[in-house]
Amino acid sequence: MLNIILFGAPGSGKGTQSEKLIERYELKHISTGELCREEIREGTALGAVADSYISKGHLVPDDIVIGLLEDQLKRCCTKPGLIFDGFPRTLVQGEALDQMLAKYNERVSIVLSLEVDEDELIQRLLKRGEMSGRSDDNLEVIESRLRVYHELSAPLKEFYRNQGKLVEIEGVGSVDDIFASMASAVDQLFVKA
Ligand code: ADP
Repeated sequence: MLNIILFGAPGSGKGTQSEKLIERYELKHISTGELCREEIREGTALGAVADSYISKGHLVPDDIVIGLLEDQLKRCCTKPGLIFDGFPRTLVQGEALDQMLAKYNERVSIVLSLEVDEDELIQRLLKRGEMSGRSDDNLEVIESRLRVYHELSAPLKEFYRNQGKLVEIEGVGSVDDIFASMASAVDQLFVKA
């Protein structure tokens, strides 16, 4: 199976690019942010806990997101591959993902890291907030999410670089150009295989 991690700061374009990757490689989409928002919409107890973290720009605790992901993995081994969007976001989650995939004799194939400078990220998220009405897309919460990204999530790049899986992709430019860089990195995997 082709198991892609789409990595990057909030606002780096993971959602947009994952749609295109899904279409091209017939992947099943796993977005922990979406899974959390679904729980919130349904008014579950787990959703209430998730909401208390998300609305402040903090990460939802590892055990909760790892649990959500485990449920998804049980259900989705029929597709040619998976795309993880917004997971892992901490080293604990990265290690948990390796272990979960190993249970299915699977592994992470590649980590695409979208690189976008901080000013551009803030502009994009503010603009998205105006349109989506997402409670976490306002300046105070955005700044907290970016801090959390640098402190807790960015170290994952080293983790995957050491595994030889990290590919950094310039995330500023046209959506199609960015997608072309990602697709060419993914296609390289098939050449090597
Ligand atoms: P973005 O990439 O724009 O931050 P997401 O939809 O991926 O948006 O995530 C929204 C929020 O959901 C995050 O700020 C965080 O609070 C929570 N969340 C999503 N995925 C995770 C995760 N893997 N671990 C912890 N919290 C998460």
